[in-house]
Parts: sequence; C-alpha cells; structure tokens
Amino acid sequence: MQIITDPSELQNCCLTWRMQGLKTALVPTMGYFHAGHESLMACARSAADKVILTLFVNPTQFGPNEDLAAYPRDHERDIAIAKAQGVDVLFLPEAGSMYAPDHATWVEVPELAQGLCGLSRPTHFRGVCTVVMKLFMLTLPSLAVFGQKDWQQVAIIKRMVRDLNVPVQILPSPIVREHDGLALSSRNVYLTESERAQAPAIQSSLRLAKKLVSEGTMEISVLAEAIRAHWAANLPDGEEDYLSFVHPDTLAPLSRIDGPALCAVAVRLGKARLLDNILLTEGTA
Ligand code: AMP
Repeated sequence: MQIITDPSELQNCCLTWRMQGLKTALVPTMGYFHAGHESLMACARSAADKVILTLFVNPTQFGPNEDLAAYPRDHERDIAIAKAQGVDVLFLPEAGSMYAPDHATWVEVPELAQGLCGLSRPTHFRGVCTVVMKLFMLTLPSLAVFGQKDWQQVAIIKRMVRDLNVPVQILPSPIVREHDGLALSSRNVYLTESERAQAPAIQSSLRLAKKLVSEGTMEISVLAEAIRAHWAANLPDGEEDYLSFVHPDTLAPLSRIDGPALCAVAVRLGKARLLDNILLTEGTA
C-alpha cells in the first residue's frame, strides 16, 4: 500500500490509472477505523481494480463549537487496517494542504441540507460536499462508497453528482452495528459505560417503529410518541437532537406513511451525538 500525503501526487497517480482504463473506487473517511469503515473498504475492493482510501479530518465540515480538535485519531492502527483490507493508496493529506488560505469555492445542496443534521449543523454539508468534490477531482474515481449510517450525506452526494453531471457511481453501503445494535461510529469512544449501556435503545426504538408500521400504524405522531416513550424508558440520559420522518431520496418531511419512508434520528448522549436511521418502507438511497 502506498501512502500519499501530497494532493498533486495523488492526482497524478489516479490520472495514470484512469488513462490505463482501470476501474477505481474511492472511500472517503475521517479515520479512527472501525468495522463500518472496513466494510466500505471491502465493498470498494470487490468492485474495483484499485482502491483509494482517504483519511482527512475535514475542518470545513465542523462547526465552531464542535469536536474538530478532539476528534479521535490513531494513524498507526488505521494504516495497518487499510493494508489488511487491500487498499492500494491511502491518502493522508498534511494539515493545510487541502485548502488554500484564500479558498473561496463551495459546493452546496441547500434543499437537502437544511433538515435533519442540518438543523444543528448548518454549515456541515457545505463542508462535506466541498471536500467530497475535491476528492473526486483529485482521484477521478469510477465509483465511491459511502455508509448509510449517514443517510442524509448519501442522499446529498447523490443529488450533487446528478446535478453536476459528475461521472462517479455512488455505492451506498449498509450500517454496520455492534452486537447489541448500536451503529458503529468513531465517536462511540466518547460514551461512558452507563451511556454505552443505554445507546442500543436508539436502534431498538427504530425497530419498534418499523414493527408498528408493518402492523398498520401510519400516523407519524403515533410513531414518534412510541419512539419517545421507548427513549424515556431506556435512554434516560439521551437528549433528542432530531426525530424525523422523511422521504428517503428527497428528504422531504412526511405527514403520513403512505409511500417510501425513512425514520432518521440523532441523539445527544454525554459528549457524543449518535445517528441512526431505518427504512420504514421501501426507498432507494
Ligand atoms: P467517517 O470517518 O465517520 O466520516 O465515515 C466515513 C464513511 O464511513 C462514511 O461514508 C460513513 O457513512 C461510513 N460509516 C461510518 N460508520 C459506519 C457504520 N457503522 N456502518 C457503515 N458505514 C459507516
């Protein structure tokens, strides 16, 4: 595995592969790898000739009071995991090499970025879209793999790619979980023992909602009430950031379950903000 730190060197390497007609897959990450990241690497490995993994804690997607400085890092372990997953190039840009001091160009999909995570993180997706577009330009991949844990991110990137005619296929990859159902996240290390014990209630509440829908409950208010009651009983230290019922592709809020429906939540638990989602009925993202 080659480790590249210089953006132009990465671009040259990937341009050469493209000219050779090789199929390349990009996996963008912020590192501190867990089995969720590994599943994206494995998906990329099985779908392409060359796998490019990027590890960059992108400052522009963090708000002023967020955990940019504290974000967990362990490059040595991450490098070993990337090697074991058969990654061809690990891009580990040096701080400062990704944004010029007078960087002034942004990519935004405001309509899809205003709800859900956008409510408490108003500049987050502008940072995500901009860095993902930069990574696409640096690597010119045939496909790029993103996890469905960040469902809104996948929906936004798919829309960006469609709207700007970006020739990259977006492959969504399923959520990888702990044995008790908690979605894996680099930020799970922030949880205390007691918070960790409560955290599986996030997924169990979503499964409860899905069961209610399968039994015929279509009223959003009834589903939301059931989820909140489950949290009150099992997640006493959790604080709701959002609980939303949206169309899986457009992310438009639903007034009733009468077609494709996604339930997406974010819960603050101690220092962590935990995301999860479930398709209540069919959707495509
Ligand atoms: P991050 O390093 O947290 O920015 O995540 C990098 C990629 O890994 C994103 O596409 C995430 O959606 C994906 N990812 C993170 N956690 C999981 C998980 N538990 N299951 C599947 N994909 C994940």
